[in-house]
Amino acid sequence: MERTLTILKPDCVRKNLIGAVSEKIEKAGFKIVAMKMMHLTKETAGEFYAVHKERPFYGELVDFMSSGACVPMILEKDNAVEDFRKLIGATDPKKADEGTIRRLYADSVGENIIHGSDSVENAKIEAAFFFSTAEVVANRR
Ligand code: UDP
Ligand code: MG
Repeated sequence: MERTLTILKPDCVRKNLIGAVSEKIEKAGFKIVAMKMMHLTKETAGEFYAVHKERPFYGELVDFMSSGACVPMILEKDNAVEDFRKLIGATDPKKADEGTIRRLYADSVGENIIHGSDSVENAKIEAAFFFSTAEVVANRR
């Protein structure tokens, strides 16, 4: 069973969409095996998105991700990484397919509701960034 890491971003929490988005995720067949609510510091948000450090949007991204509470989760499913990227849709909600989470709920490319890991390798790194082994439910059935 493959795992991916998602974050319900601060806009998702502010818009009271934790329930609606989690429902979409569960209805699509993903099992939530870890979740928590937290408020990232600028430093932690910057570290999570360090890969984008040189990009022009990095400062805004760090400000946004540290602007309020967010909800990281680890999700389990066959082909989780690829299937979850399909479920959330393109980074820019205007370019995201009909019915995807970003198309349904996001306002802009910056404030796009949700994160999804882009590879199995990064999913492992990102899951470990937010959760200790003891915080992850093993063999959920
Ligand atoms: N982002 C942005 N402007 C851009 C591209 C990305 O503000 O032009 C933000 C957006 O919140 C995005 C995050 O940076 O989700 C990470 O960018 P990435 O290209 O990894 O997109 P994702 O993998 O989230 O679809
Ligand atoms: Mg990405």
